[in-house]
Amino acid sequence: MNLYHVLKRSSYGSLLPPSVGHSVDAGELTEHNAFVGMVVVDDRADIRTVVREHEIPGRFVVHERELSSAAVKCAPLPSDFGIDLPAPLLVGEYASGSRYPLLPWSDGLVCSCPYKHDRPWRVLCKHELLAAIVAGGKDSIFLPVTRGLEVPHRARRFVSPAIASRHSPRIGAEPYR
Ligand SMILES: [Zn+2]
Repeated sequence: MNLYHVLKRSSYGSLLPPSVGHSVDAGELTEHNAFVGMVVVDDRADIRTVVREHEIPGRFVVHERELSSAAVKCAPLPSDFGIDLPAPLLVGEYASGSRYPLLPWSDGLVCSCPYKHDRPWRVLCKHELLAAIVAGGKDSIFLPVTRGLEVPHRARRFVSPAIASRHSPRIGAEPYR
């Protein structure tokens, strides 16, 4: 897998604080980028009705068209993934200015940005790299909700439990036999 394009300063670097040194911890990353618990609703839905029905603050209810993925054809919306709306999801609000929901798919989350979906061989985008570092910093397979509403565990499970259960930090450090 070629991570060069993701690791460039113009890519992953756009999510980092301006005065970054050699390493940035998960706390610093989530000061500049947020994983926001939101309810994503159909574009025809009336936000005030959703707010009233669920007794939640309106600033955490979002129409699909307001997500950055709505602006680019190759970027899927939650409903494109068969997710029934309204849906409580984790929405990444990034230092680079974009807002992409993380979509529960298979047994983990996938970012909905165009970079990830434009080419089938791209296994990771800068947002997922950030998410992996944040989850790794907390030693959890679940991403934290740094702002907004609590969302179900399924909407925060970044890494498959099956992968997590088999993972060993030593893999790759020992010579192949
Ligand atoms: Zn992404």
